[in-house]
Amino acid sequence: MSRGFPPDFERVLAFHGHLCLDIAMGYRVAQAAMAAMNHPDPATLVATVGGDTCAVDAIQALTGCTFGKRNLVPRLTGKHAYTWQHARTGVGVRVYVHYWDRFDTDGTFRATMRRWKGDALGPEQAAAFTAAHDRLIRHILEAPQAELFRITAVDAPPPPRSGGFSAAPCAACGEYVKDGRLTDGLCADCGAQEYR
Ligand SMILES: [Zn+2]
Ligand SMILES: [Zn+2]
Repeated sequence: MSRGFPPDFERVLAFHGHLCLDIAMGYRVAQAAMAAMNHPDPATLVATVGGDTCAVDAIQALTGCTFGKRNLVPRLTGKHAYTWQHARTGVGVRVYVHYWDRFDTDGTFRATMRRWKGDALGPEQAAAFTAAHDRLIRHILEAPQAELFRITAVDAPPPPRSGGFSAAPCAACGEYVKDGRLTDGLCADCGAQEYR
């Protein structure tokens, strides 16, 4: 049975694996950013993401910027902030999601969600929470952009392109490590053990 979601949102859900608030937000963010940039060729883009959240999967599914292609750069500031730039010119847009700033400030929603996920709600409470969660997702899908996030223009150097295949062995475990990722001759695995 169709849930009445837009087909491209269904495609995002198939990629992400579940329906949640932040995948809905990521869908809105990605759509708005691509519209603001006049629907650029994905091959020319690089995205920088401030959070390792569900929203990032919408960004990967919709804008063609993916971690594997290295045109999605995690810069984990912990902000709900996402930037797209033309990889050569650095011109693009930044989206900051301010909706979460005032969402659930007393933690009630999240606390109920934890109990819901843990099957700790009675049937009536669970039904009420499911309905509220569903309403919120539909609200995020339909709310005016300005209620959810702000978009600003960016004109800055794009993140450096990571690439190259040269590597050197770690002095401790002997495993080969991509250039620039050894610290004092040690890989991150061995360094972390030694310096902890
Ligand atoms: Zn999710
Ligand atoms: Zn090592």
